[in-house]
Amino acid sequence: QLQKYQDYLKSLNDAQREAACSNISMPLMIVAGPGSGKTSTMVGRVLTLLKEGIGPSNILAMTFTTAAASEMRDRLGAVAGKAVAKEIEISTFHSFCLQLCRRHAEKLGRTPDFLIYGPGQQRRAVIEALRLMENDQKGVPEPIVQKLEDLPGTDIATSLKEKSKKWLKFVTQAKASGRTVEECDKIGERTAATVLGHYDKILSSCNALDYHDLISSSVKLLTDFSEVYNECLNTWKAIAIDEFQDTSLMQYRLLRILASHNHVTIVGDEDQSIFSFNGADVCGFDSFRKDFPTHKEIRLIKNYRSTQCIVEAASALILKNNRLGCIKQVETDNAIGSKVTVRECHSEEAQCAFVVDKILEFTSDGSSADFSFGNFAILYRRQVSGKVFQMCFRDRKIPFNTHGVAFYRKKVIKTIMALLKTTLPDCDDGPFRLAFKALLPGDKEEKKMVVGYVERISRKSSFAAAANDIFHAKVSGTFKRSQLTQGRKVLSTLDMLSKLVRRERSISMVISSAANMLPQKYLLEKRAVVDVEGRKLLNEDNDLRSVIQFLMDDVSDFLSTHFTNAEDQDMNEEEGCGSILKSFIDFITLRETENFRSRKQENKNSVTLTTIHQSKGLEWDVVFIVKANDNEIPLLHEYNGVLHGGTTLEEERRLLYVAMTRARKKLYILYTIMDSNWQLLQPSRFLKEIPSHLLEIQAVAVSKDLVISRRNVSSNTTGFQMSPEKIPENVKKSDDISDCFHEISEICFSNQFLKRFNLEERSTISCLFHQWA
Ligand code: ATP
Ligand code: MG
Repeated sequence: QLQKYQDYLKSLNDAQREAACSNISMPLMIVAGPGSGKTSTMVGRVLTLLKEGIGPSNILAMTFTTAAASEMRDRLGAVAGKAVAKEIEISTFHSFCLQLCRRHAEKLGRTPDFLIYGPGQQRRAVIEALRLMENDQKGVPEPIVQKLEDLPGTDIATSLKEKSKKWLKFVTQAKASGRTVEECDKIGERTAATVLGHYDKILSSCNALDYHDLISSSVKLLTDFSEVYNECLNTWKAIAIDEFQDTSLMQYRLLRILASHNHVTIVGDEDQSIFSFNGADVCGFDSFRKDFPTHKEIRLIKNYRSTQCIVEAASALILKNNRLGCIKQVETDNAIGSKVTVRECHSEEAQCAFVVDKILEFTSDGSSADFSFGNFAILYRRQVSGKVFQMCFRDRKIPFNTHGVAFYRKKVIKTIMALLKTTLPDCDDGPFRLAFKALLPGDKEEKKMVVGYVERISRKSSFAAAANDIFHAKVSGTFKRSQLTQGRKVLSTLDMLSKLVRRERSISMVISSAANMLPQKYLLEKRAVVDVEGRKLLNEDNDLRSVIQFLMDDVSDFLSTHFTNAEDQDMNEEEGCGSILKSFIDFITLRETENFRSRKQENKNSVTLTTIHQSKGLEWDVVFIVKANDNEIPLLHEYNGVLHGGTTLEEERRLLYVAMTRARKKLYILYTIMDSNWQLLQPSRFLKEIPSHLLEIQAVAVSKDLVISRRNVSSNTTGFQMSPEKIPENVKKSDDISDCFHEISEICFSNQFLKRFNLEERSTISCLFHQWA
């Protein structure tokens, strides 16, 4: 193994090796650009810790995503051996803190099996907090807790929904930066203090902690309880953290306490900080410099990932235009490579068609390079932009991966998880309702009646308790005649729910029987969508099976990370699944909130479809950044420099930077000029900031048949991409404005004419018409 360690060191360059081997009792900070081998160096550093005699179970390595954690475990395992790698605690901040909080739950006023609130439940809690506040103001004594979707007037529901969005953001930020109720009060933010206070009380009364609470509660445990502090200090003798730029203030506080022995390594890049909406704070680097004055700082300047063109284009974007971030010298020995292609597309469909054609071109036998589907990634700002690609890839039978949050948000997965949650003794009302509604027999109207019936009874207690009351009322024969139908349905549904745990003895068995309980419509969800679009029907059975299979992969991931040897796993699978099921649900909740992408779930030979945020730390040969439009990258809500959710134009620029630097060999940036309502769109303002000699610009071609006036187009191009040079020579010219206008309008309104063109051409015509109009 010593040999393997030395070989690993040899594979590093001088600066990387210096960092990996430097004195382990000195705090170390590695700051460098993308693709410079930061993560590779961090692996070397952990190997050095092992070599210097620190036990594997005394090392804590923090990564930003669970995917990065398993990647690191694999890399360490390859050198130090699998058994050793398994003993090292490689986790995300949240899963680390979850363990700590569970161990010391009673100190936080919770029981060890407290619930974790994900975004959905958090939002409900915020809404409840707002209602409580409104009731305070009105002087209404006892609030009636209602769920958002059941509120009577849509106006109230909408306004609460809007408000809750804003306040959820506030609560998130406050928790990430450790702002307390008292602090809000002190600076005169009365309303904020009230909302936060109610919110905390609600969570406490539900025996729950939210995602951010996990971190702040851990800090509290470490600062207020010396026994916890000592336990941690004795266990974690060395700490290493990757993607440091995305740690929040609270996470940093935690790190500072845990690393009071100075055996700490942080690795990061200011220019890749893209999680400020989640509370990430770039100032962490400065704090580290201040708090660990004996630290050593190492910079890596060579990029090993990308071609010269890509490195230069990305650096030009960030260095010239962002004030924040450090000036980094970047160089690479890689080939110059081809220019970055910037392509204008008429519509999302045209954009998709281009990408698909390119991928097929690259992967076809005739292609000179040897590309498999696994070498491609399509990156976008928002999940929705991936939809059209998914549909098209299914049609064209191109394998693709798209998991992460979207996967856990699938209705069928949410419902199955809700069904699992109902098997726990302290199931929350939200999941209980979801599961209950899913299993209720009857159509929408019938369901509504039964739910309404339970709700009337649940005025003073929870929905679950009310359903149980009904259950018992029926059993003891005190059911009123008029309520018979509803009562019977409640009864049969609860009966089904209760069977779920009693029968099954392993997690995978519970999941499959939960899936089997679901009515057909859950399994057919996809087909309806595809039908409307006039596309081929999916084999829905297969589709469901693959979804369930992904969840089963999660089960095996879970078992393998929670139990060290195979026998343990077997035994636990057999023992029945009460307490294990609970940890499994936690495990999934964390995956959902951590934007998890499991490598197991990913087929190596598949195109990756993902958001830019989730692409962090990863790399592909060919990357397509799609929808690089204004109002996507950057996402604009306000124009005064501060964008939505408190992110700034600079952070939006960093987002594009992260996306660009994922590419090894070829980078495409695509934008569309029209949305589905034929409204004109602008390309991303950042594209202008990349020096043009590094770009190959491909503009839209105008349909040959189109009669067009050159003079008109050129005089109407303000703010629009159509410039005179782009109009092909073969377009017939006319100098008479009114003639031309007339002709175009006739063309546009003649259906027959439109039918002759494909979508792309139709879009162009409409585009031009808009210009004239
Ligand atoms: P990011 O900022 O995107 O997370 P990073 O700095 O963590 O990037 P790595 O992922 O560690 O970079 O490395 C990028 C690529 O460069 C990897 O494919 C890695 O194998 C390769 N690489 C790193 N160091 C070297 C080296 N010394 N020699 C050759 N290849 C290297
Ligand atoms: Mg990295």
